[in-house]
Amino acid sequence: MTRTPPLLEVNALKKHFPLRGGLLGGITGQVYALDGVTFSIEKGETLSLVGESGCGKSTVGKAILRLIDPTDGEVWLDGARIDNLPASQLRPLRRRIQVVFQDPFSSLNPRMRVRDIIAEPLRNFGLAGGGDVDDRVATLMDTVRLPRDAMRRFPHEFSGGQRQRIGIARALAPGADLIICDEAVSALDVSVKAQIVNLLSDLQDELGLALLFISHDLAIVEHLTHRVAVMYLGKIVEIAERRTLFANPRHPYTRALLSAVPVPDPTARRDRIILTGDVPSPISPPSGCRFHTRCPYVFDRCRTEEPLLRDVGEGQKAACHLDELPALRMLPQAA
Ligand code: SF4
Repeated sequence: MTRTPPLLEVNALKKHFPLRGGLLGGITGQVYALDGVTFSIEKGETLSLVGESGCGKSTVGKAILRLIDPTDGEVWLDGARIDNLPASQLRPLRRRIQVVFQDPFSSLNPRMRVRDIIAEPLRNFGLAGGGDVDDRVATLMDTVRLPRDAMRRFPHEFSGGQRQRIGIARALAPGADLIICDEAVSALDVSVKAQIVNLLSDLQDELGLALLFISHDLAIVEHLTHRVAVMYLGKIVEIAERRTLFANPRHPYTRALLSAVPVPDPTARRDRIILTGDVPSPISPPSGCRFHTRCPYVFDRCRTEEPLLRDVGEGQKAACHLDELPALRMLPQAA
């Protein structure tokens, strides 16, 4: 029986940026931004990619969108390889994968009316023309819960949350299958964040969209995502279904991130795990486990041998030597 391919498949993706220096401007080193990232997204699924700033999560989005070319690895969309397509063949890909950026203030052209911003992809991909355009834009305004008369206004006349709705309407316009939300709610106030997350969740149900939701905030993704992948210094260190990851995080880094997520129940207690030190430089990542310089459970083997991302049960994968040892049971549990 032939297997139906996932909507998106990312295999061992790497992106190394050369560092130039010296008198002749030669290559003096590499920034190891991504170092073998593997995951997949099914149709209609949300996968959240979380981690601290600089862990490489936005680079994953850019490599999928081909805003940068990967150094190595593969990206497949619906069973077709797309990372090696020549520029002339990228057009259909751009229609199927759209992006919503973090900053709703700079991602919309201030000189264009909302109607023209949303109509632009419809025209670019030849999806509507003439009188159809206004009808399509009006429908998209309804979809993102904005009043139709807002079409005639300019971006500066809207709040941050409303601008993000305009950005989402623009991403939906060409009929994308996958939307990459790159810190799409990070710049918004808490209550507005929740409204946009709810909107994305509704749209996913209504339209069967798949989302790659890139965020540094685990608390936000809990309400939206099906699965979570945790990144640290260019690698995925844990990936699991949302419920499994929040109830039973296996990697010490995931535990530390989760310990900072507020618990709505005032009677529940969650022991905060404070990580010491900064994220190491991706120019010279630590040997062995990349997290060993900050891990509260580090032991000798961690400094020399890199832990592989391996199955730890129920579809959960983690990259930690502790998972091979009974000592894991001694780790403090997130409440
Ligand atoms: Fe910590 Fe070692 Fe596990 Fe890395 S492999 S997360 S250093 S215990």
